[in-house]
Amino acid sequence: MKVLVADSINQKGIDNLKEVADVVADTDITPEELLNTISEYEAIVIRSRTKVTREVIQRADKLKIIARAGVGVDNVDVVAATEKGIMVVNAPESTSITVAEHTMGMMLTAARKIAIADKSVKENKWEKSRFMGVELRNKTLGVVGMGRIGSQVVSRCKAFEMDAIVYDPYLPKEVAKQMGVQLADLETVLKEADFITIHVPLTPETKHLISTAEFEMMKEDSFIINCARGGIIDEDALFDALSNEKIGGAALDVYEEEPPKDSKLLDLDNIVVTPHIAASTKEAQRDAAIIVANEVIEVLKGGAPKNVLNMPVVDQKTYEEIKPYLELCKKLGSFVSQAITGQIKELEIVYCGELSEMANQDILTRTVLQGILNSVLIDPVNMINAPTIAKERGITITEGKTADAQRYDSLIRVKAISEKDEFSVEGTDLHEPVIIKINNYWVDVKPEGHMFISKYNDIPGAIGTIGTKLGECNINIGTMQVGRDIAGGKAIMILTIDQKIPDNVMEEVKNLDNVFDAVGLEL
Ligand code: NAD
Repeated sequence: MKVLVADSINQKGIDNLKEVADVVADTDITPEELLNTISEYEAIVIRSRTKVTREVIQRADKLKIIARAGVGVDNVDVVAATEKGIMVVNAPESTSITVAEHTMGMMLTAARKIAIADKSVKENKWEKSRFMGVELRNKTLGVVGMGRIGSQVVSRCKAFEMDAIVYDPYLPKEVAKQMGVQLADLETVLKEADFITIHVPLTPETKHLISTAEFEMMKEDSFIINCARGGIIDEDALFDALSNEKIGGAALDVYEEEPPKDSKLLDLDNIVVTPHIAASTKEAQRDAAIIVANEVIEVLKGGAPKNVLNMPVVDQKTYEEIKPYLELCKKLGSFVSQAITGQIKELEIVYCGELSEMANQDILTRTVLQGILNSVLIDPVNMINAPTIAKERGITITEGKTADAQRYDSLIRVKAISEKDEFSVEGTDLHEPVIIKINNYWVDVKPEGHMFISKYNDIPGAIGTIGTKLGECNINIGTMQVGRDIAGGKAIMILTIDQKIPDNVMEEVKNLDNVFDAVGLEL
């Protein structure tokens, strides 16, 4: 397994990778060299220098994962990676503490005028009365965006004996309660807070979230801090608010244009500025390298990483709950895909019992699709590109849920419909995948190895005829299950066999009297 480390990352991450893979650390690699060599690698680790473009991705035939040791992935063509089934991961949690600490630094620097006092002393001045500050104690912190960083800022501000009110319309009330913060609308936060700190992503919704009208609502001596993204605060409106002393001060780490060119803001005394360094600590870089190295290792071992940007995110608890069912989903998909006649057009997946209580079964559905498509396509399909490929192949997917799982904790039912046929299979996990129903027949089958399914008329001797034919052709039967709708009606036989049945033998079985279908499966 070959991993390319294309940008410089902390050595600890490289050392971890070296334990499982052949690591090439070429941190000066040029775009041309990357294009020419990317086909050799299964994983690439980058920071912000290396651009993983569509052209690079098209040539990356073995690549499974693009790992960004940091947060932003502006330098990766995520759409192209998704189409090719390549995971894109980052390490968003690596910088949370670092950015929260920088926010605290900015807050204290603004409140105590540390930056201009520092400048003054260095100019051999001693202007003690000019730098009268304010305490943080007993002040109200207004947090806009209570995610990873916002929540770390709140817990640090609690140590400073501040109260927190939060504007985050996506944060459930119960979670806010657990975090010990009060939720409020933006207007209330702006009107009541002494220190407002921004921790939302930059989206069309948050662009210029804080502009003239919002500055008008803020207290006269309040401070605003932005260590999130430039553009969330309207800088022209901020200049007006600061120069007309409508607010007490501001602190910015991020700007609408970076670096800020000819910005009037930089001439003001009541603003503290840093050059987008909120995430720049040795610890954050080390942690980012370790986190993405672990993600790469997980993928190379065939596991599932946790920070995949082009796949739905599940928390650790949910992942542990669904993990046993992933193998089952793959087997059910593969089984149905091989057993049905004709190309699948419609797919119904029903999650029964405990699995139906999960908020989202997307990963399971993706895994069923992966099982289906890998049985019919040469290019590997994974959880990332399975929905795109299914759509391209015109497969309509319906998902359902029901509390009824018969006598099991959970069941998954997969029904496929083609132009010529319908086939359904139900299974559960009993420490290993088990199929409990095929079409309407109850069975108890482990979907593994070489298998054979035959549909036949339930008449005396039919089972024997099939067994004899296989025996004559030297096919050894391991296990046999039969099921029927009514005595003398239609029946199904499922065999595990010791080898793949050759096509000519399959044809002979299909031509036997009373057999109306037979198919071999590889699971
Ligand atoms: P996060 O995704 O964990 O949290 C973002 C929070 O914002 C979520 O709770 C979300 O519900 C909330 N939110 C989204 N839209 C909102 C809206 N319209 N109004 C109110 N709340 C909204 O993200 P995070 O890791 O905490 O990062 C927060 C910000 O910090 C991001 O903008 C990120 O890019 C930035 N960041 C900056 C640096 C830096 O170097 N300055 C480093 C890392 C992260």
